[in-house]
Amino acid sequence: MSKQTSRRDFLQQFTGGIGVTLAALSVTDSHAAAIAPMTDGKKLGVALVGLGSYAKNQLAVALEKTANCYLAGIVTGTPAKADEWAKKYNLDKKNIYNYQNFDQIASNKDIDIVYVVLPNSMHKEFVLRAAKAGKHVMCEKPMSTTVKDAEDMIQACKAANVQLGIGYRMHFEPFTKEVIRQCREKQVGDVRFIQTNFGFNIGDPTQWRLKKEMAGGGPLMDVGIYCVQAARYVTGEEPLSVTAQYGPVTEPAVFKDVEQSISWQLEFPGHATVNGFSSYRSNIEQLYVSATKGWIQLSPAYSYGPIKGSTNAGPLNMPVVHHQTVMMDEIAKSFLTTGKFPEHINGEEGLRDMRILMKIYEAAATGKKLSLV
Ligand code: NDP
Repeated sequence: MSKQTSRRDFLQQFTGGIGVTLAALSVTDSHAAAIAPMTDGKKLGVALVGLGSYAKNQLAVALEKTANCYLAGIVTGTPAKADEWAKKYNLDKKNIYNYQNFDQIASNKDIDIVYVVLPNSMHKEFVLRAAKAGKHVMCEKPMSTTVKDAEDMIQACKAANVQLGIGYRMHFEPFTKEVIRQCREKQVGDVRFIQTNFGFNIGDPTQWRLKKEMAGGGPLMDVGIYCVQAARYVTGEEPLSVTAQYGPVTEPAVFKDVEQSISWQLEFPGHATVNGFSSYRSNIEQLYVSATKGWIQLSPAYSYGPIKGSTNAGPLNMPVVHHQTVMMDEIAKSFLTTGKFPEHINGEEGLRDMRILMKIYEAAATGKKLSLV
């Protein structure tokens, strides 16, 4: 596909697979300039596992535009989706799997990367099976539902000598990258305080996101993880300690298994304090950084965009991109040039977040200030 034709208007849905808002926007050409196809024309074949909302509305859309990778296969438990996707994306029949015959992917040379987009509790099984099949693996956030599972996933990929990446798309998003640059280069001075919130009004009360066994927890696992990530990528540090509080439950029938909302506070070695909040009943999305020489804010900060930014010096103007397209192209480019996925989205990065998320829950349950070191 030519770069010109791939820069077209597209529809994007708000995060969480809930389809809260729809916004049409025009993507700038910045992505075309940033990611050129590799000179030898090699494109990595990607197989998506679990054809739900995120795979369908974001990743498949991205893989139609990417220069260095493409949708080569699918793994689904729903035969009707297999037919629909095969037709829509002109997929080779031999590249279509279900959850039972998935392991046969080992002998499929068209597939370089298996991308796990299943409910959180299923990530581990499919990452382990993909690694055993000798495929590099991308896995959605949160990488697992327990710290032990995250450790096992990293170990399995190491043992199989395959790459493991987590779908942390904000690392490739221009506004986010600019906030990181300004903070790390101390353009705004020393970061002292971060307020970071992400919540949305959850729909269908029967969905897996509201079942602890499948989701691992509530909004903290689903969207609060963006706030924890942001605190770490803005400061470039690992937190020392955590306190946390569960919010009130106003609908016990809906929130019987996972929290309705949660707040937490992290302390960092460079003296930054972070206030985080996540909810399944508040539409909120913000990253506010206060530093000794100024402030910088993104809001919206984490959904599919457009991300908007401002600073004490005026508005922040950066290119608007399709997050998943840039992410997949940069990951593929990194692999094609170095043999590795980018370090800042690797399995260890996912594990660090898992450790913090679990400590936030422990701190909320015990009411204690807990050490993270
Ligand atoms: P969905 O519920 O929309 O889709 C999940 C898919 O998994 C289903 O459509 C189904 O696909 C498959 N599946 C297999 N077994 C089950 C089961 N028991 N229950 C439900 N689904 C099952 O979820 P999302 O696409 O919204 O989320 C998937 C993952 O992606 C999650 O880990 C989530 O956190 C992450 N995500 C990441 C986002 C980001 O911005 N990085 C945004 C949204 C989600 P099939 O019919 O093909 O078998």
